[in-house]
Amino acid sequence: VHDIGKNIVGVVLACNGYEIVDLGVMVACDKILDAAEAEEADVIGLSGLITPSLDEMVHVAREMERRGIRRPLLIGGATTSRQHTAVKIAPAFSGSTVHVLDASRAVGVVASLLSDEQRPAFDAANDSEQQRLREAHGSAVARPLIPYDDALARRPKLDFGPDSVSAAPFVGRRAFEVPLGELVDWIDWTFFFHAWELKGKFPKILDDPRQGAAARELYENGQTLLRRIVGEKLLTARGVYGFWPANSDGDDLVLWTDAARSAEAARFPMLRQQRVTDDKPCLSLADFVAPVESGASDSVGAFAVTAGIGTDALVKRFEAELDDYQAILTKALADRLAEAFAEWLHAKVRREWGYGAGESLSLEDRIAERYRGIRPAFGYPACPDHTEKPRLFSLLDAPAQGITLTEHFAMMPAASVSGLYFAHPDARYFTVGRVGRDQVEAYAARKGMTITEAERWLAPNLGYEPAR
Ligand code: SAH
Repeated sequence: VHDIGKNIVGVVLACNGYEIVDLGVMVACDKILDAAEAEEADVIGLSGLITPSLDEMVHVAREMERRGIRRPLLIGGATTSRQHTAVKIAPAFSGSTVHVLDASRAVGVVASLLSDEQRPAFDAANDSEQQRLREAHGSAVARPLIPYDDALARRPKLDFGPDSVSAAPFVGRRAFEVPLGELVDWIDWTFFFHAWELKGKFPKILDDPRQGAAARELYENGQTLLRRIVGEKLLTARGVYGFWPANSDGDDLVLWTDAARSAEAARFPMLRQQRVTDDKPCLSLADFVAPVESGASDSVGAFAVTAGIGTDALVKRFEAELDDYQAILTKALADRLAEAFAEWLHAKVRREWGYGAGESLSLEDRIAERYRGIRPAFGYPACPDHTEKPRLFSLLDAPAQGITLTEHFAMMPAASVSGLYFAHPDARYFTVGRVGRDQVEAYAARKGMTITEAERWLAPNLGYEPAR
């Protein structure tokens, strides 16, 4: 799924003389394995962007084992880690499973795997590293969680007085388009360099003794293409956002259809931390909204934005010209514009809510999100459940704006951002982390899902081994 990363790995390996068969994104397991056999591939690589792809990688490893495909399996992409590869993927497959931290390492890894001399030592080192990671993981999981009831009792008690509660400035959703030019000044360029594995802060990275020259050239090329995209309107930025009167009801977040709170527009079940450190509270996003029994007129917002409309056509044009570089650059810029759009819209929302009307922040402050309120995104640590995205998308009717979800809840176009807005001054990002079976049972019941299904989607957060 991790399209940019996968393409960069492909380009890097191709530049080093390897032949790459790129099957694209969101390819079914059977298709990957059939192609690997038909093409007599020496190595199979998978790249993952969001957590549901982690589970799919385990499935691919199991299928390789079942079909007796003994080619090495390379794992890479944003949500993957050497820990996950060691603990979940490698045990499912008796061949070599290697986590590749970034594209620049792919060449060394592939060279070692394909060399008769280097392979035994490489495999031995990889196996013992993975064994060590599994043992470390075993002792981490053994640290107990507190019962869900106790976690509920340890919810923080926030103030919901007039200064902390924000009424909805309007109720319901509004869709709109913004001219791309409006977003350019909101771009966080640091992440543009990250996409190319140039790690460092912008603009300092331009003067970095080691990476400066590469960074300057990339920046130059990025600016040139960005000017063209903006000038010729090659991409379209479109979004939808809205406000709803809201309350928490236990660990559910309830959005009402109207100020009288006569009917529910949506109900988002939230997860709560069950680990305890000292006497810190156990957090849930539900804590940041006034409880229904308080009677306070609180509200939340929701949004989905994209800057990716037109990306496919532009990428195809570059690919037809065999210009992989401009094709990857296009996707990276579309991502930048989508993130800039999210930042721009959040500022507008804070103004409309009122508390942000007097804000004056530098670009640096905005990038560091030094303002009141948060915009948590489903799939991220405070609300890791991707299966809530369909509820968000139907609340916003995001598909009407051209933003849709794949069967694994990745957003399409890829250059899209979505989430909820919380206005409470104490609202902050946190990590739910591992949850116990008691919470998963309660959560599944609230969602109307079977426990097995909930466990499948929450796999990265389970604090226990689910029954298979
Ligand atoms: N400015 C960056 C992107 C910021 S990522 C860029 O240009 O690429 C930060 C965003 O990730 C937040 O705004 C929020 O939407 C999400 N996020 C970060 N931590 C989170 C957490 N713990 N829970 C939920 N969402 C989180």
